[in-house]
Amino acid sequence: MILPILSFGAPILRKECEDFDENTPLENLISDMFETMYAASGVGLAGPQIGIGKRIFIVDGSPFADPEEGEQPDEQLLALKKFKKVFINPIIEEESGDLWPFAEGCLSIPGIREDVERKSNIKISYYNENWQFLEESYQGIAARIIQHEYDHIEGVLFTDHLNPLKRRLLKGKLDDVSRGKVDVNYKMKFQNLKR
Ligand code: ZN
Repeated sequence: MILPILSFGAPILRKECEDFDENTPLENLISDMFETMYAASGVGLAGPQIGIGKRIFIVDGSPFADPEEGEQPDEQLLALKKFKKVFINPIIEEESGDLWPFAEGCLSIPGIREDVERKSNIKISYYNENWQFLEESYQGIAARIIQHEYDHIEGVLFTDHLNPLKRRLLKGKLDDVSRGKVDVNYKMKFQNLKR
C-alpha cells in the first residue's frame, strides 16, 4: 500500500523516534515503506515520514549505481546496486573521515536540493528485517543515504545542516512546501494545506 509522505512542517518529523520492541512483526510496514519509496522514486524513507514515530528506515541506493557516461563503474558504485536494506533500531556508533559535500534532497521537502557536508565513513549497528543484529561499516554515497535517513529518526532534516544564511533564504520555499504550494508527482500529506 502506498502511504502519503508527510511534508516539511509535520510535527512528527521533529520528534526523536522510539525503538521497536524486539521481534515486533514489521513485514507489512516494511513492504508498504518500499512501495511508498519506489512510487516516489526515493532512495530512502524513514518511519516519521509516513507518520510512524519509531526507529526504522529503508534504503535502496541502486539509482546511484549507474556510472556517468564515459565513466568506469568503480567498486563503490557496484556495491550501491545491492544496497537495499532495512534498518531497525539503528545506532550510528561512529562517524569518521573527511567532510564532503553532496547535494541532498528529501521526499518530505520536494523541490529543494542543497549541498550538505557530512563525514565520509560510518559504523552502524541495527536489526535487519529478520531481527538479526548486525554491525556494519559504510562509506561514500551509501553512508550518506544512511546519515540522511538516520537524521529523520532523530528529528533532524537535511536543511538543519545548512548555514543560517542559506536557511533564511530557503524559509519561503519551506513554508510553501508545508502549505502544499509545490509541484510533486507522488502522494503527500501537507501540514498546512492552503487551497
Ligand atoms: Zn529525507
